Amino acid sequence: MLYRGAALADGKSPQLRTGVSILVTGDRIEWIRPSESEPPVGEGTKVVDARGSTIVPGLVDCHSHLTMPGGSHWIERGTDPPETCIANAEHNGRLLSRSGVRWARDVGSPRGIDPTDRRDRALALGVRDRWRGRRDLPYVRAAGTWIAKTGYLPGVAVSVSTPEEMLTAARQQLDEGADLLKLMMDSPRAPDGSVPEESPWTADELRPVIEMARSRGAFVTAHTSTLPGARAAVGAGIHSLEHGFSIDAELAKTMARQGVFHVSTLAVFRSWVTFARTSPGAPVASARTQEVLPKRRAAAFESLRLTHAAGVRIAAGTDFGGGSLRANQLAWEVEALVDAGLAPWEALGAATYRGGELLGEPEAGTLRDGGPADFILVHGDPLDDPRSLWRVWRTAWEP
Ligand SMILES: [Zn+2]
Repeated sequence: MLYRGAALADGKSPQLRTGVSILVTGDRIEWIRPSESEPPVGEGTKVVDARGSTIVPGLVDCHSHLTMPGGSHWIERGTDPPETCIANAEHNGRLLSRSGVRWARDVGSPRGIDPTDRRDRALALGVRDRWRGRRDLPYVRAAGTWIAKTGYLPGVAVSVSTPEEMLTAARQQLDEGADLLKLMMDSPRAPDGSVPEESPWTADELRPVIEMARSRGAFVTAHTSTLPGARAAVGAGIHSLEHGFSIDAELAKTMARQGVFHVSTLAVFRSWVTFARTSPGAPVASARTQEVLPKRRAAAFESLRLTHAAGVRIAAGTDFGGGSLRANQLAWEVEALVDAGLAPWEALGAATYRGGELLGEPEAGTLRDGGPADFILVHGDPLDDPRSLWRVWRTAWEP
């Protein structure tokens, strides 16, 4: 299949290339060339007139929860039975694929007995295994179940009370097949529902988990919404911070120096604002939450601005399922990153090759001669207008 006459944007430069042709054989890219100097192609090659569209690498959603659907009551859905969770994942897989997402990094799923393989473990792991080798569904790297201090997400997370229990739980997740580990570095909520400004673990308590995981070739990532939690995680040598809604300039510099990724999930704030109108009974639609929302949103955007300014590598995520977004809304996060001050090409990079770097998957989110034919065609110029990413016209994996 020959895609002819497209523009191309890969998130690595602010320059849009135009007049580009890509020849695909099977699931590989044969070559990427200027349309005016295409090498000859075999007879019978199908030609797609791609003029007026932009080729973009397949997107990488770096913060997703495959087995949960999102929506205004997303937390309730964490205790759905395994059959429902698996059905959610199948639906999400189709949404991801059609919206141009080629890779999904799952950062937490509830535990249960998988109805297909009958294994009792994090439910996203069976999903990952069954999707392997399927062109029509995303490639998945999955953390097991969230590991949290007792009292945080009770009934959903793996609850641990001591550093020793945390280490044991972490080992078990890897034994059961997790690709990475997800630790909650927020403390259990106070009775009034607020997240206390304190880290659940010290850096010294966390370090053995990170070292154990590293010795087994796995990364550890930390959910953080407070500064103390983020500091402790970075101090312990964490690979990445999820959300990072409260990061100061000093910590941002440390992150840049240590190569810690910041996985952004800023679009959730916009989503929550809509619930005040569409779902008045939702927890985040309460007057109290809506009142503090602008302040929390401003702090989160400022944190992102600081990490970006410090040179921290930023990777984009929706938090669908474990947050309120849906699986086909990564474009919303790209828009949010531009709102936070990234240039559109940098925001596109966060949703493509930076995700590949985060995953340690050099082919993810990139395009090259001989590489996988994992790209999409969008209508418009994503380097001028990030909303172009909502307008997916074709995906190379479902030609
Ligand atoms: Zn999440």
